[in-house]
Amino acid sequence: MDIGKLLAERTKYMTASEIRELLKWATVDVISFGGGMPDPSTFPVEDIQKIVNYVLEAYPHKALQYGSTEGVYELRQEIAKFSEEHHGIKTKAENVLVTVGSQEALELLGRVFINPGDVVITENPTYLAALQAWRVYQPKLVGIPMDEHGMIVELLEDKVRELLARGERIKFIYTIPTAQNPTGITMTQDRRKYLLEVAERYDLLIVEDDPYSYFLFEPIQVAPIKALDKSDRVIYLSTASKIFAPGFRLGWVVASEEVIKWFYLAKQSLNLNTSNFVQYIFLEGLRRGVVTKNLPRVKELYKRKRDAMLAALETYMPEGVRWTRPSGGMFVWATVPPQIDTRELLRKAVTQYKVAFIPGHGFFVDESVKNAMRLNFTYPSFEQINEGIRRLALAIKEA
Ligand code: PMP
Repeated sequence: MDIGKLLAERTKYMTASEIRELLKWATVDVISFGGGMPDPSTFPVEDIQKIVNYVLEAYPHKALQYGSTEGVYELRQEIAKFSEEHHGIKTKAENVLVTVGSQEALELLGRVFINPGDVVITENPTYLAALQAWRVYQPKLVGIPMDEHGMIVELLEDKVRELLARGERIKFIYTIPTAQNPTGITMTQDRRKYLLEVAERYDLLIVEDDPYSYFLFEPIQVAPIKALDKSDRVIYLSTASKIFAPGFRLGWVVASEEVIKWFYLAKQSLNLNTSNFVQYIFLEGLRRGVVTKNLPRVKELYKRKRDAMLAALETYMPEGVRWTRPSGGMFVWATVPPQIDTRELLRKAVTQYKVAFIPGHGFFVDESVKNAMRLNFTYPSFEQINEGIRRLALAIKEA
C-alpha cells in the first residue's frame, strides 16, 4: 500500500535525527563520538534495584496505576526542593510538571506556543533535537551567534529590535546557558543578567534548558537564569537523564502556574502522564540522596574524560583544526578547515577509519556552517577516546 499519499503536510518537516541514524552504523568496531549517552558505569544500579523492590513492596498499587498529568505530587515537591538546593531556584510543587525527559518539554513548547511563521530565537549552534521538535510547527528560527562567553546578548538585543520593528511575533528565546549542547560553553553571569534584562525590556519569554549544570568541571560561579527571574518569564527544563539514568525518560519543567496549566493540557492528549512507576523510583532516589551522592563521582569521571579528549586532540590533530575547551557537560565542539564538509568526512571516517561523530550542520538554524562537528567524551572509554581521536585526525589529514 502507498502510505505516502496519505501523509499529513507536517510530515514534510519530520526529518530523521542525524544522531539516531548514526547510532545505527555504530557497529562494534566503530568508535563513536556520536550520540550523547552517559557512561553506563554512572548508573546507580544497586541503589535502583533496592528502590524498585521497595516501591513494589511499599506502594505497588499507586506505582503501577495511571497518574495525574502534572506528575506525582510528592515528586513535584521533591524536585522543587532539589531545584533550590542545587540551583538556588525558589519554587513549589505547583510550579513543577514532570515530563517524559526534557525532550517532551521541548515538544510541549511547540504545541503550546508556536504558530506557523512565529519567531523562535536560539543560540547558533543549538541543540539539534530542539530544532527538530519545533520545525513541525513551522516557526522562523532565528540564530544568535555565540563566542566563548555564550550567546552574544548585544547581538540578540539588536536582532530583537529589528524583528519587533518588522512586526514579527517572537514566541521565546531558547538558551542552554550552562555547558551548552553542542559547544560545552557556559554563559557568563553578566550575560545571563543582560539576557534577562533584554527579555524584560521587550516582554519576552525565555526557555532555559539545563541538563548539564550538574557537571561543571571548573569552579565557575553561575546561577540558572531561572534563579534570577522575578517576573515568571523563564521556563526552566531539567532532566534525570544525566544524573540518574536516561532509560527512565524522566524530566521536569519549572514555570509559572499559567504555563504549567497549558503544558498540562497539551500533555494530557500526548501521553496522559509520565510513568508513575518511574516517578516513584526517582522520588525515592532523591529522598535517599542517591542522586546527590552519585554526582561528585560522575563529575570527576567526566572531567577526566574531557581532559583525555583534549589531550588526544592536542596530540593528534593537524594544523587548522580548532576545538572548544568545554566547561562541563558531555561534548567538545571542533571546527576543521572550511574546505572540508564534515557530512562528507563522516562517511569516510566511519567506513574507512571506523570512527564516528556528529556533523555540525544540523545544530545551526540555517545549516550554514559545514565544517564543524560535535564529539561526545562521556560514553567512549579512555582507550577509545585516545584511539578514536587518532583515527579522526588521520581522516581529517586525508580530507
Ligand atoms: N536538551 C538538551 C540540551 C539535551 O542535551 C538533551 C539530551 N541530549 C535533552 C534536552 C533531552 O534529554 P532527555 O529527554 O533525555 O531529558
